[in-house]
Amino acid sequence: MQCPSCGSDDTQVTETRPAPKNELRRRRVCQACKQRFTTREQIAAPQLKVEKRRGSSEPYDRAKLHRALVRVCSRRPVTEATIDELVNRVEARLTKAQLRTVGWARMVELVLDVLRPVDAVAARRMEADYLDEAGAVRLSDAPAAEEGAGPQLGLFGDDDA
Ligand SMILES: [Zn+2]
Repeated sequence: MQCPSCGSDDTQVTETRPAPKNELRRRRVCQACKQRFTTREQIAAPQLKVEKRRGSSEPYDRAKLHRALVRVCSRRPVTEATIDELVNRVEARLTKAQLRTVGWARMVELVLDVLRPVDAVAARRMEADYLDEAGAVRLSDAPAAEEGAGPQLGLFGDDDA
């Protein structure tokens, strides 16, 4: 999100509130010139459900996707604002597709699509957790050996399984 005052894209969200018409009202501060401004952003279809690996589904949760990205981007030069932008891009695609339910595998592919051009290392971390050796999204349960280690990312509900 670009600063309307100086054009820097290094801005940080300081507050997020729901607004009418499926929008979010965000207060942001520019890290370059300290200008504060407010944006309205479209959020994904609130009815969207994500099908989990074990066959059940749960409502799409923006915070969960955000946390998963924060984790794979740890110690990478990816700012909080960029992660926010990645989530927006995934949501924009979901909204455009007008889906009611999105498969877990499709969701992982979408996230990788937007993450790869931004940070290849973070994308590889996500691939390591979600793709098998052939590069396909792993749909079966994790091997028993990994089960005890707990979910790596907690993406889309696997953390409560
Ligand atoms: Zn600025």
